[in-house]
Amino acid sequence: MVNEDGKIVVANPIAEQVFGYGKNGLTDLSLEQLLPERYRGKHVNFRKGFNAHPEPRRMGFGRDLLALKKDGQEFPVEISLSHSEVQGKLLVMAFISDISERKKSEEALKKSEEQLIVYAAELEKKVHSRTEALNKTIEKLEKEIFERKRAEAEASKALEKEREFNDLKTKFVAIASHEFRTPLSTILSSVVLVEQYKERGDLDKISKHTSRVRSSVEHLTAILNDFLLLGKLDECKIIVTCEPVDIDTLLQDIIEEIKPSLKEGQHIELDLKSTKKQLITDARIVRNIFFNLLSNASKYSDQHKPIYLKVKEKDELLMMTVKDEGIGIPPEDHKHLFERFFRAGNVSTIQGTGLGLNIVKRYVELLFGSITFESQPGGSVFTVSLPFNCAPI
Ligand code: ADP
Repeated sequence: MVNEDGKIVVANPIAEQVFGYGKNGLTDLSLEQLLPERYRGKHVNFRKGFNAHPEPRRMGFGRDLLALKKDGQEFPVEISLSHSEVQGKLLVMAFISDISERKKSEEALKKSEEQLIVYAAELEKKVHSRTEALNKTIEKLEKEIFERKRAEAEASKALEKEREFNDLKTKFVAIASHEFRTPLSTILSSVVLVEQYKERGDLDKISKHTSRVRSSVEHLTAILNDFLLLGKLDECKIIVTCEPVDIDTLLQDIIEEIKPSLKEGQHIELDLKSTKKQLITDARIVRNIFFNLLSNASKYSDQHKPIYLKVKEKDELLMMTVKDEGIGIPPEDHKHLFERFFRAGNVSTIQGTGLGLNIVKRYVELLFGSITFESQPGGSVFTVSLPFNCAPI
């Protein structure tokens, strides 16, 4: 408690203890003695101001107040002021709290908050750089996975190709040895017989056997040609030459050419209904397509069975149908029919390599056409549709 002149009138024991004075040690001291020297002058004015208009309030609101202990040590305080008048004299009461501990913990809190912010910033930086590193690793891994998958796909493709090739090789060896054996043994037996007939001078028999030798050799040549052709088709070595071709002449030529190989009593009935008379196409390829289809029609039909070759226009295409009344193709074999070396289950002893239809299909595609078939026991119909002009636009 301080009088108007700023002298301490009375202080409680806690105040004496806080400021480091002994009992009654504060009494009669000037209040300014409890302040660091640098604040004293200002404080005198401040005290006078308060005395002029005394009212209870807190001191130094919003800023830190410092007080001075007897031993010269400064410490933070919070002060509330109040006043009363005793016998006409103003007495000012100052309630002083030592807030050193609070300040310390506030400071510590602030420090740790600041540290926390620094840590957080560092952490964020670390997370950022780790994320970047991780993203780079992921990118690298993704690239590696992609490369590996591509390599795997290539390897399995190569493996698949090799497997296919081995499969074809096996089929080729089987078919070739089977298909070559018959004509070769025919040739051998005919040669032996020719020698015997030569001794007897039987010219008729000799001529019969020489023609058997010739047809066997032709058959072998045809098989070999098919094998060679397959290779050429695989390597895309077939050159398509599109030229104007008279449809009727082309078909008549094919029929004439195939006539000698038809079975006894077989004949080809041509039914040509096309207003357009010309095709722009590769005549050699068309000939091979129909030679194959017509030979099959003959081969898989009995003697005396007719073969029909119908030709008409449909939707800007020339549709050509080869129909026979032969053994037909079992339904379960339909889906494999154009596969290389495939032969249906009902061929029994009829000779063949299973290459013709595969070649036909690829030939048709070379001319930008298509091929379909329908078949059941009792007959088959193969339809080839070709554009009137096979030259690419
Ligand atoms: P192949 O040399 O065996 O005759 P193709 O490739 O020409 O070979 O024909 C494949 C298979 O399709 C034949 O083995 C046969 O089973 C069947 N096939 C083809 N054309 C006919 C047809 N007109 N009638 C019955 N079956 C046929």
